[in-house]
This record gives sequence, C-alpha cells and structure tokens, in this order.
Amino acid sequence: MQSLLDLFISLKQANNMSLFENMHMNLALEVAKEAASRGEVPVGAVVVHGPTDKVVSVASNRVMELKDPTAHAEMLAIREACKVQNNERLLECDLYVTLEPCPMCAQAISFARIRRLYYAAEDKKGGGVDNGAIVFNAKSCHHKPEVYGDIMSGPSQSLLKDFFKERR
Ligand SMILES: [Zn+2]
Repeated sequence: MQSLLDLFISLKQANNMSLFENMHMNLALEVAKEAASRGEVPVGAVVVHGPTDKVVSVASNRVMELKDPTAHAEMLAIREACKVQNNERLLECDLYVTLEPCPMCAQAISFARIRRLYYAAEDKKGGGVDNGAIVFNAKSCHHKPEVYGDIMSGPSQSLLKDFFKERR
C-alpha cells in the first residue's frame, strides 16, 4: 500500500506548485503577520530540508527588537538552521520568504549554499535577486540557488501595504 508520504511525493512531482510549497509559504506569511503585530516590517522566512520537506527553522524580521540592521527574517532563519543542522552550509535546504530578499540576504543565501529560494512579493526598490544588484548573477557569487518568485505574492503584498499605510 502506498504510504501517505509517497502519495505526497507523487503529488509534489505531479505539479510544480505543490502542497508543501504552499504550506511552507503560508507558514512564512503567518510569522510575517506576527512581526507586524510587534511593529516590525512584516517579513517571514522558513528554512526547509528539501528532500524531506521538514521545517528546520522559522523566523521573522526583528531589526528593531534586536537593534540589529542585519536581523532580517532570512538572516535569522539561516543562522538558526545552521545551528540546528550544526553545519555552516545548508546544502539540501530551501528557503521560503514572503518578500524578495535584499542584497545582504541574497548573499547570505548564496554563502549558505541554499538549494532553492522561493519568495512571494517582488521588491522593486529593495530587492537584490531579480531587482537592483541581482546578486546571484554577479561574478563574485559562487553559488546560485534555483529561484522561484511570485509564489503567493498577493497576501504578502497586502500585508506590507497595510503595514505601511497604518504607519503613515
Ligand atoms: Zn534582507
């Protein structure tokens, strides 16, 4: 008999945008909402062990709380995942983030050897993956993850829009 996991894996292979991918981006959106409730720019990130789809770490933006300009959701999620895996490289891991990573985070994603990057909303002003510096295309970038943008971007865009509207 086919196990539930086998069934999920065959479902995953059957369509590009799998159940798991939706699930992980949903989790990233949930923690992004939680960041907004703390007054932080609502961005959430999840690191997943790709082959098993197991969540390794979850983080949201904590720049103000930690008084740390590098405390973006992606940076915190990568640091935690490295700790959990006891490895400075996250070779089989994928990162889900609700906003296109900035150049700093894109570089960290490359340094961490992340396998796949999934992001929700594009960031024309601050993004560094498909906008601005386009970090992964730079000569100095030695690892380029597979990039999937515009994954469930609608809810992330509204979250960011509402957040900045309230603060104006
Ligand atoms: Zn960043």
